[in-house]
Amino acid sequence: MKVVITGGSGFIGSHLADFFIDSNYEVVVVDNLSIGRLENISHLFVHSKFTFLEADITDFDSIEIVFKDADWVFHLAALADIVPSIENPNEYYRSNVNGTFNVLEACRKYHVKKIIYSASSSCYGIPDEYPTKETAEIRPQYPYALTKHLGEQLVMHWSQLYSLPAVSLRFFNVYGTRARTSGTYGAVFGVFLAQKLAKKPYTVVGDGFQTRDFTYVSDIVNAIVTAAESNLSGEIINIGSNNTYSINHLVELLGGDVVYIPKRPGEPNCTWADISKAKQLLNWHPKVSFEDGVEVLLSNIDYWDNAPIWDKNSIAKATEKWFEYLS
Ligand code: UDP
Repeated sequence: MKVVITGGSGFIGSHLADFFIDSNYEVVVVDNLSIGRLENISHLFVHSKFTFLEADITDFDSIEIVFKDADWVFHLAALADIVPSIENPNEYYRSNVNGTFNVLEACRKYHVKKIIYSASSSCYGIPDEYPTKETAEIRPQYPYALTKHLGEQLVMHWSQLYSLPAVSLRFFNVYGTRARTSGTYGAVFGVFLAQKLAKKPYTVVGDGFQTRDFTYVSDIVNAIVTAAESNLSGEIINIGSNNTYSINHLVELLGGDVVYIPKRPGEPNCTWADISKAKQLLNWHPKVSFEDGVEVLLSNIDYWDNAPIWDKNSIAKATEKWFEYLS
């Protein structure tokens, strides 16, 4: 079995690459290293079944050949983060929409047996109902959310029209080892763990009572593999932890001081996936408790050494456009 992982040197992709190398698959990682880090996959280079192609999914000619004879494709390559997507919608459109188009065309050309798309729960924006079902209204708030959703629509269209077996998984707040952003202000774990290492206070947004459906990366990998192995096609499925946890609880688990920063416009007070579809169709259940997941991160905290350390002022500056456009 040969699998192709776009974005395979990133946070989730590199864990997926580990899984498939451990399971003795032939693994090809395609990544332009814009967000992904070689450090995440360097330990895999010694394996004869592992190949790394440094290439950009926006360039069809440079990536298509690795899709030849591929059984499964995992499309995780994308530009992430909110503010840069507001500042550079063009780049986000190219990577997340045109890039997805190229990946789909390569899958179609080489008759790939299954493609799994990593979609984002940000498509729900501020939903009316919690836990949120897949049928909730689509309300993207910024180009990252919009372009990831457009990518999902492409995947569903290719599945329907060209009979390309495809499943889109909507991930909710994934966290775990290697969850580190490159330079832009991003997901909370990367921010807080770097602050903890530097003995700086955690920058808590609002009153910290907002909650997130923090889902541990090994549960995500499990869901992705289960979806690939299944006979499903044309399905969109939420993947979450079955729970929602406050930022204050996260701070309690990490331990340390806090500084409060303004509530961000356009962000939900809660994210919480209704995962009954995943349970029913995939027989998938999350296994890692939030407390255990955070514990694992704390024992691997050195990974965030030299990561950007954010504070109240640098965050205010980095999120100027966010406040300007979303309020
Ligand atoms: N958050 C925070 N301080 C930070 C960054 C994030 O308190 O410096 C909070 C944020 O308000 C949100 C949660 O952490 O409730 C998760 O934020 P993240 O940006 O990781 O994910 P998203 O808001 O997109 O779900």
